Amino acid sequence: MTHPTHTFSGPGRCTLVGAGPGDPDLLTIKALKAIQAATVLLVDDLVSEAIQALIPTSARIIHVGKRGGCQSTPQAFIEKLILMAVREGENVVRLKGGDPFVFGRGGEEVEHLAQAGIHVDVVNGITAGLAAVSSLGVPLTHREHAHGVVFITGHPKPGSSGTDWRTLAATAYSARLTLVIYMGVNGVQHIQQELLTGLPPGTPVAIIQNASLPTQRHAITTLDSLQDTILDAQLASPSVIVVGDVFQGLLTLQQSTPASQAALG
Ligand code: SAH
Repeated sequence: MTHPTHTFSGPGRCTLVGAGPGDPDLLTIKALKAIQAATVLLVDDLVSEAIQALIPTSARIIHVGKRGGCQSTPQAFIEKLILMAVREGENVVRLKGGDPFVFGRGGEEVEHLAQAGIHVDVVNGITAGLAAVSSLGVPLTHREHAHGVVFITGHPKPGSSGTDWRTLAATAYSARLTLVIYMGVNGVQHIQQELLTGLPPGTPVAIIQNASLPTQRHAITTLDSLQDTILDAQLASPSVIVVGDVFQGLLTLQQSTPASQAALG
């Protein structure tokens, strides 16, 4: 009887882990445990270097984001890599920025792997919008200013009908909602124009880039100056744009501060 040259170690497992907005101190303990137990990790661009430094040196890291201006790894290929690794008995962690189920296509990956018979455990992460707003000391809801909050993408799936910003603006105004817009910087001209149909021009807005990282910057402005502020301050992706009266306090403070002192945070 011949013996195989390698042993098949049986099915491994896959965990979809939220890495949070970037600061490793904002990882959950469960996320940290999963990262430290992983043998193979598929890592997105938005996962900070400080978090990648927590990965065991023995683990294999596969970068699947848009690096150096290249196209990101096709979704189907990522899923194939996960499938192969799990079948080889690896403990696979799919590491995604923020929360894996807030945009970022975590849901699609779980569905496709389920169809292939792979169960995926999910570990929440702190989503960028939460961390960004809290870092300014501002609550997303406040009984005086906002009764609720909407997390919304500024960059819907290509070919889909897109967001009805006009209805959203009217609803945000009447229901007093804070709007947290992800992936909105590139399409900001359209978003600003449409939101102004239902929200007052003086509605406070914050733009926060690189939330929770040492490179974090932000600007506070009004809805009618949103695009100009982004251009003037050279704010870029990854940023969240947050619209609502919860920033009235910061806006008033800024407007009462001489321009030379109202430096970008
Ligand atoms: N799953 C992620 C979102 C992925 S979509 C989460 O829950 O945070 C990518 C978008 O998230 C970026 O375009 C940006 O709008 C936002 N984002 C991610 N990390 C960010 C950060 N550190 N600071 C500001 N915005 C961030």
